[in-house]
Amino acid sequence: MNHLMGSISGATAHLKQKALSSYELCEAAIRRHEAITKLNPFIMSTHKLAQESASRSTERYKKGKPIGPLDGIPIAIKDNFCTAGIPTTCGSKMLQNYTPPYSATVVQRLIEAGAVIVGKSNLDEFGMGSGTIDSTAGPSRNIYRSGINYKLQSTVRYPTSGLADGDWYVTGGSSGGSAVAVAAGAAFGAVGSDTGGSVRNPASYCGVVGLKPSYGIVPRYGLISLVNSMDVPGLFGRNVDDVATLLSVVAGEDLRDSTSVPSNLQNLQLPEVPSIEGLVVGIPREYHSAGMSQEVVDIWTKVAGLMKEQGAQVREVSMPHTQYSIICYSILNPCEVASNFTRYTGVEYGLRNESGHSMEAMYALTRSTGLSEVVRGRILAGNYFLLRENKERYFNQALKVRRLISQDFEQAWSSGIDLLLTPVTLSTAIRYSEFVKTDNRSQAADQDICTQSANMAGVPAINVPVALNLDGLPLSMQLMAPWGHDASLLSTAKWIEQHVNFPRLCTIEDCK
Ligand code: GLN
Repeated sequence: MNHLMGSISGATAHLKQKALSSYELCEAAIRRHEAITKLNPFIMSTHKLAQESASRSTERYKKGKPIGPLDGIPIAIKDNFCTAGIPTTCGSKMLQNYTPPYSATVVQRLIEAGAVIVGKSNLDEFGMGSGTIDSTAGPSRNIYRSGINYKLQSTVRYPTSGLADGDWYVTGGSSGGSAVAVAAGAAFGAVGSDTGGSVRNPASYCGVVGLKPSYGIVPRYGLISLVNSMDVPGLFGRNVDDVATLLSVVAGEDLRDSTSVPSNLQNLQLPEVPSIEGLVVGIPREYHSAGMSQEVVDIWTKVAGLMKEQGAQVREVSMPHTQYSIICYSILNPCEVASNFTRYTGVEYGLRNESGHSMEAMYALTRSTGLSEVVRGRILAGNYFLLRENKERYFNQALKVRRLISQDFEQAWSSGIDLLLTPVTLSTAIRYSEFVKTDNRSQAADQDICTQSANMAGVPAINVPVALNLDGLPLSMQLMAPWGHDASLLSTAKWIEQHVNFPRLCTIEDCK
């Protein structure tokens, strides 16, 4: 047994009992990564640094002095979080030679808690996408039906073989590398970023838990900005408790991010057996959107029924502005992108493409060669929406619509709803050959329908894997809670996890 597919607390228990050393655990994660490289989870693996920090962790355990619940635990970091001395590329040519001199707060806090960083995980360029297919490192692949051997802990037999035609399933995105690293056992947990669903979407497609915390609870300092007013560092784990442990380490104010707030999550521990007695669960009618597959609707009904049966009150609610969230996002995202991306000029860092004519020509050439069409398209659209003659019509209107979307949540909470239960995506993971038939913008319009509004409102949201479909692909449910109710959101997610018996994926070795 190589312990890689177990929980964080299980691994730390072994480390404390000295049944296993941090170094051995790190080696096992590295071997596992080598066995699954075809899934392309990392833009860059950091094996040497990982071995060094695992050795230090081993020494701490020898002395009986681990520094926290993550000491010696292999963790992956999405490659849009700055890591001091380690390249941070955002999956873009623009930052291919960029090595930041400092680490993001989230990364720093994980390192200080003893976590072992095993790699920088793959993403859509700058987080713009929903498939992890648009990266300088090439696409990541889902482990399910990939041809990599795995077992499912279930008495039901699901298909696990690779697809006969050589096609494969996308991981979802944009944090797909983080999701598949955790799903496949190359890391116990991972950090991602969620602006419109980029943690919950890949977590759902890859059968792991993905949390988008309340906006401001986890500092963004060192997360390379996409849409500042919606970006949230998010967390991946193979179970809800692991995600709670990660959150307890990374949450809390950082004065270098003026939008971060103090939090009392540092001692977060979820109840052993959470209860949903008396909980009022809202089912927002408008999330029944066109194109949602029947199996998603069925599992949604099933989980709602289960919660009702076990003591929760389940009520239908209306959130009438949900339908505008994608269109509103398609204006606000480019506007903030246009502003943020003025920093990529080739002057201070990143790519520089000299034209020889003038400084302006150098800027233009650098940006046209360093940024993909998707990124340039968003910059162009944003600058158009922000033109003096357009600002009122587009940007200001979109801000008002955003407020209405946010008010839908306020109204739900003030009508007595504690949590909302919805799907995460319209279907299970999509085949790569299908996915690439539509462009980046249309992909987002389909993929972010159920996840986007939570970012508009800044509320916490989580996906919990609940079932596999007949093709053996994972399906998740999403829970959303009022701002700051991250702990109760996690407790209810744990309740669902304990009641649905999701067939866990494990390596052949770990299943023995
Ligand atoms: N799919 C959305 C986009 O492309 C969301 C991405 C994200 O959450 N980072 O902008």
